[in-house]
Amino acid sequence: MKLGRNDKCWCDSGKKYKKCHLDRDKMPEISRGDVHGHTNKIKNVKYCSVPDSLKNGCNKHMIKAHTISKSSSLKSIAINSHVMGTKHHYDAISKNSGILKLESIGINSASTFTGFCAVHDRDLFSPIENEIFIPTKKNCFLLSYRPVCREVYAKRNSNETANFLRNFDKGKNYIEQRALQTALSVYQEGIENSIKDLKILKDKMDAILSTDSFDNMDHFVIELNEIPQINASGSILPTFDFDGNRLQTLTERTVSTVIFNSIYSGENGYFIFSWLKDDEIIVRKFIESLSNKDDIADRLVAFLFSYCENVFCSPNWWNDLPIDRQEDINARIMEGLPGFKPTDSKTLSTTLHGYGAFTVKQSYYL
Ligand SMILES: [Zn+2]
Ligand SMILES: [Zn+2]
Repeated sequence: MKLGRNDKCWCDSGKKYKKCHLDRDKMPEISRGDVHGHTNKIKNVKYCSVPDSLKNGCNKHMIKAHTISKSSSLKSIAINSHVMGTKHHYDAISKNSGILKLESIGINSASTFTGFCAVHDRDLFSPIENEIFIPTKKNCFLLSYRPVCREVYAKRNSNETANFLRNFDKGKNYIEQRALQTALSVYQEGIENSIKDLKILKDKMDAILSTDSFDNMDHFVIELNEIPQINASGSILPTFDFDGNRLQTLTERTVSTVIFNSIYSGENGYFIFSWLKDDEIIVRKFIESLSNKDDIADRLVAFLFSYCENVFCSPNWWNDLPIDRQEDINARIMEGLPGFKPTDSKTLSTTLHGYGAFTVKQSYYL
């Protein structure tokens, strides 16, 4: 079909053909300068994530907020102020030929995002940052709120990056253009669905925060005996439980989310799962399939590296791990990425043992 200059472009950008793919094969390819410009643009996205009802208390200064709660968490596992984590920005991935791997990262840049103003970052999280962490309903809510805000922030940026990647077919022929745009459309549809799901979750959590109704969330608290060798925070839509049973499909109209944090509070270590009461049916099944295991500590390691990218570990722990455990973790980091093994029923139902990252003292519902 022949497109007119003023028709909508075939690539679904919504732009006119003449402003989009017309003569794209003759355009200069994307340069390193373009990539750099995009990276800077993403770095400069700053806003405060608090609910509208609190916005009038915002300070205009947006800061680099930590998402792994309690700055002492990362310090407790760092060597020379560095921990091991994965770098997800475009430059790092292209340097490693598309492979994500654990690298040394300074704790000041690990796990930060500019998603809170100075006032709210300080005041809102003061009960969990400035005091020894005690797992109460309110504190566990605060712990789970920040990773959700971070994921909203990160997904918006992923969408921007996908829009940028749409330019990588400049100077290429029509078949290559079509292949790239189709792959990115599929990718972006996934991102847009995640953004929708996250917005529903964030709105409900905003309502809890605005009304102090912390009883609307439940938690599963795993108390640890020693400093956790892995710190992490994030949220997932669990599709399989720890026995490999399917819990939900992501095409359902409403999906259930579980939020998790692995922290050290200066005195105690905790791994905490959190969820909305609305999501109880699915998430309880997920938690129960973990809580009846006698190898919870190893299951948590498998879970984190397969499902979470905001995860940081102790360099000493990592370097002392046997090679087969390191290889297993590296494979898990790549799981679910295009061209690699998808996360499936086996992801959490099989795990190696003896990672030695967590020592479980006791666990309970809160
Ligand atoms: Zn186009
Ligand atoms: Zn604010």
